[in-house]
This record gives sequence, structure tokens and C-alpha cells, in this order.
Amino acid sequence: MSDDKAENQAGIDGGDNKIVARNIRRVYNIKQKGDNGTVEFEAIKQLNLNVRQGEFLVIVGPSGCGKSTFLDMVAGLAKPSSGEIFIDGRLITGPDLDRGIVLQGYALFPWRTVRKNVEFGLEVKKVPARERQEISQKYIELVGLKNFEDRYPHELSGGMKQRVAIARALAYDPEVLLMDEPFAAVDAQTRETLQEELLRIWEKTKKTIIFVTHGIDEAVFLGDRVAVMTANPGTIKEVVEINLPRPRDGIRSSAEFGWIRHKIWQLLQNDNGAGEAGSGAEQNIAEAISSSAAL
Ligand code: ADP
Repeated sequence: MSDDKAENQAGIDGGDNKIVARNIRRVYNIKQKGDNGTVEFEAIKQLNLNVRQGEFLVIVGPSGCGKSTFLDMVAGLAKPSSGEIFIDGRLITGPDLDRGIVLQGYALFPWRTVRKNVEFGLEVKKVPARERQEISQKYIELVGLKNFEDRYPHELSGGMKQRVAIARALAYDPEVLLMDEPFAAVDAQTRETLQEELLRIWEKTKKTIIFVTHGIDEAVFLGDRVAVMTANPGTIKEVVEINLPRPRDGIRSSAEFGWIRHKIWQLLQNDNGAGEAGSGAEQNIAEAISSSAAL
């Protein structure tokens, strides 16, 4: 074992935690207008978060609070300026097939059919053709796209494209699914259907999921716990346990749902005083509230 690997493995005893993020800070260097210099912008500061094995963890927060930045770091696509993120006790140093990513806006390959899109990760893993077909068929059916295997992305609705993206991420069997506002681009009704389907798939596959959203309703409906992020700089303000029974069909109209929703809304609202008047914080919170009301 290389020294690096030994050090990484000795890095952290996560207990039943699948992912552990410790003291994460992320700074961007921003170019100054009319000047050659740059200034540091602190997007994330002192972020600590544990995600349990098999947990559905939702991160909610106003736009610009650093949700995508954090998810990119868990994916290994970006590095923290300081701090560490571990998966199964190993330091994350880059992307790997143990983590599947579903982004907003589908990101499908337009020149590939549904089946070929779903098989992409399996091709990378050099899974033989016959096995690839069996696996892709299973996930295409799991997301409700049977009989659409040979369609191209432009022949599908937004909701169907998003299902293909989910099937593609699931097909190569990652232990962790990282989802960045995956349902942001679909209409409200399709979004609810996809949320219900995602819960059904999660219950079947027992993946660990980190799901990023700025919708409070979506967060409460999906999550075992909801990590509430606030901005300027982005950090986790509180992690709220969602003690709602599963399955959650019809739960949105319950008093308990409304109560938890209000609690999270207040956590975001209380952040209002943190920024200056008219700052991004105020605007972001207003956006979070109006978008969650629209759900
Ligand atoms: P969110 O996903 O919560 O909307 P992001 O993670 O996209 O937030 O961004 C967090 C903050 O970092 C924002 O203020 C954003 O403008 C800034 N930011 C993100 N990416 C970059 C970048 N490549 N360069 C400079 N600033 C960035």
C-alpha cells in the first residue's frame, strides 16, 4: 500500500458514516474589474457534515450558498481550499465510479439512444455487451421507460430525460448518488412524480443519497435529514431530522409536514440579518421562499 493510501485509510473512523466532511473551506479567486489583480471570495466556510450509510440526506439553501460547490467536492470534481472529505474513511482525491452524479438539465448524450445513454458507465467499466444490455434494461424499467429504449433524447419529455439520467447513474451501481437540483427543469407535477419514483428506487437499492435543492417542500418530502445551508459564506446552519413515516405518499398535507417545513423556512429566514441590507443573502432567501411556495 502506498504511503498516501495508508494515510488516507487511517484518515478517519467514520463509524456508520458513509461520508464525512470536516472543516471545509472553499475560496474562489475573483478577477478585479479594470485591474490585473484578484480578490479572494470565500464561498464555503467551516462546513462540517456526516452522511450515514444508506441515508437520504438533503441539502437545502438559497441559491449561491455553496450547495453545488460542496457537491462538486464530494464528487471529486473540485478540491476544498482546506479541510477534507472522506468516503468510507478514505480521503476523496478525485472522481470515482463509487459516486454517481445526476445534475440539473439532464446532460444526456444527444447522439445516444436511451439504452446507450444508460449503458455509458457500464462501457467505461468494460462490462461485456450482453451483461450491459441486461443491466440497462433493468434500470430502464425501474425508472418507467420500458419501450423507450431506442428513442433519442430529443424525442423525450423533460421528465423522461431526467429519468434516463437517473437510470444512467444507477446502472453502474455506485454506492453513493449525488444529485444537484435534478428536478429543477421539470414542471411541478412531473417533479412530484419523479420525487416519488426516486424514493421508490432508493428504498429498493439502499444507496446513500446526497440531494441538493433550494425547494423546502422537496427537501422535507425526500429527506431522512435536511442540512440547512446559509450563505455569505456558505455553511451548514443546522441539520434537521425528518421524523415523518415512510412511504410518504400524501404526507404533504399533514400538520407534521407543515410544521417541519415552517421550521426550515425559519432557519433560512433567520439568516436574513446576517448580510448587509440589499445583499445577496436577502435576495437568496426571498428566492428560496418563493420557489418553495411554487412547489
Ligand atoms: P449554489 O449551488 O448554492 O447556488 P454555488 O456553489 O454554485 O451555489 O456557488 C456558491 C458561491 O460561489 C456563489 O456566490 C457563486 O457565485 C460562487 N462561485 C461558484 N463557482 C465559482 C467560480 N468558478 N468562480 C467564482 N465564484 C464562483
